Amino acid sequence: MFDLVHLWVIRQLTLGEFSSRRAVVSKAAWMAAKIAVFAYLLNIVGHLILVALGLLPYPLGPALVVATMLTPPVSFIVAVIAYSVVGLAIYDLGMSRQRFEMLSRTDMLSGLMNRRAFLDTFEQVRGPVALIVLDIDRFKAINDTLGHKAGDDVIVRVAQTVTHALGEGATAARIGGEEFAVLLAGPRMESASDLAEAIRQAVEDMGFEVAGRRISVTVSAGVSEGVSGLGFSELFSSADRALYIAKAGGRNRIVHAKDLADASRDASYPAGSHAEMIPSRLTA
Ligand code: GH3
Ligand code: MG
Ligand code: MG
Repeated sequence: MFDLVHLWVIRQLTLGEFSSRRAVVSKAAWMAAKIAVFAYLLNIVGHLILVALGLLPYPLGPALVVATMLTPPVSFIVAVIAYSVVGLAIYDLGMSRQRFEMLSRTDMLSGLMNRRAFLDTFEQVRGPVALIVLDIDRFKAINDTLGHKAGDDVIVRVAQTVTHALGEGATAARIGGEEFAVLLAGPRMESASDLAEAIRQAVEDMGFEVAGRRISVTVSAGVSEGVSGLGFSELFSSADRALYIAKAGGRNRIVHAKDLADASRDASYPAGSHAEMIPSRLTA
């Protein structure tokens, strides 16, 4: 019994039947009507039992008239009030829970998903996926010369530009200070490099002004492809390695992980293996 009630409350907390205040009140009225009918029938049966036992202290006829006039309205009113009070409390709790859940999955500065929500989304995706890891170029210099507030504004503008560039089937998140990630699943994954390039171009073109001064903002990105079942860290480290090569190659560019072998042969990149070039913070 306790388990059943517990399950019912959990179901309502996820806003099962109490999706709005209006739904609570109409559900309360419906339940109260059923309770009123049940109470009325119980009252009649009670009277009949008392008659059968010879225990009814007054005539059955007037007793049934009083029962008919009083039991349904009184039980309806009591039930509708009780059900509405409990239902509205559960509805409010459910809404707070939803709000809390949303806040815990959102990056407060950019409004994008946070890293945790992004990982959850990745876990739910099945089949082929592509990951784009974007990092604002020379962001520390923006902070140092224009201040932390201007740096925050740049993060917000880049987040908006990334969101604007995405369409259906893509998920974007801010996964670190000035780092963003985009997940593409299904057929859209094939266009990951094009999308990364479109974002890079859009950020370059977006124009950012602070104190009447226009500053140049660019991003570099690494792209990798894989299958969701392989796990996030493998896909992420390929994209991050590609991002590192994009930075080493001069920034404001996109590198696809599958081109890494070619990139390392390119004279413009530092010599040595990729592993040597990747700082530990990127591989951790
Ligand atoms: P690179 O082109 O190699 O990416 O250089 P970078 O300067 O962008 O990278 P670096 O990692 O040296 O600097 C990132 C800076 O971002 C350092 C940190 O103080 C700053 N930062 C991290 N989170 C925030 C934030 O939320 N707001 C602001 N304004 N700055 C942040
Ligand atoms: Mg960074
Ligand atoms: Mg950076």
